Amino acid sequence: MLSAQSTDVGVNKATPALFAAYPDARALAVADGEDVERLVGTLGMFRQKAKRIVELSKLLVERHGGEVPGRLEDLVVLPGVGRKTANVVLGVWFKAPEGVVVDTHVQRLAQRLAWTKHTEPEEIEQDLMKKVPREKWDAVSHLLIWHGRRRCNAQRPDCKECPIRDLCPSADRAENVGRKQR
Ligand code: SF4
Repeated sequence: MLSAQSTDVGVNKATPALFAAYPDARALAVADGEDVERLVGTLGMFRQKAKRIVELSKLLVERHGGEVPGRLEDLVVLPGVGRKTANVVLGVWFKAPEGVVVDTHVQRLAQRLAWTKHTEPEEIEQDLMKKVPREKWDAVSHLLIWHGRRRCNAQRPDCKECPIRDLCPSADRAENVGRKQR
């Protein structure tokens, strides 16, 4: 929830102090809003994010005894939690993904590798779920995200040095494939 319009590096810098001050949902549910804003103040949209994580924590306490639920249907009805966030939680924490995480990297890579013809995350997810065995749903999104960050980035994909260039239909012409419309 903190990662929207922020880098992972930025989020990872902010969370140690946040979690030290508020180590669980019960603590965050009764937090002072301005203090939470201060702790996440280096992140984009920090006021909105601070408000949301406090609201979410209140609901976790009310509905789930202060724990994060392990079912997709319970996660996606929480404020600020969409299918992508829910799939991250289920895959990384519960080791029981119910889908494939489709973030901006997965979206772009799936298109460049011609694993999908779709452009909407929900439809791309359905294509990846059919293409990849269930036990690899979590791993495939991590691999695509890693490759998207390190090699196949949006503006300047490094096709010359890419280890899968022989398998990739977009090699050497990827700049305009899978880019978000402006
Ligand atoms: S060959 Fe280019 S477009 Fe294809 S996966 Fe590698 S970096 Fe991305």
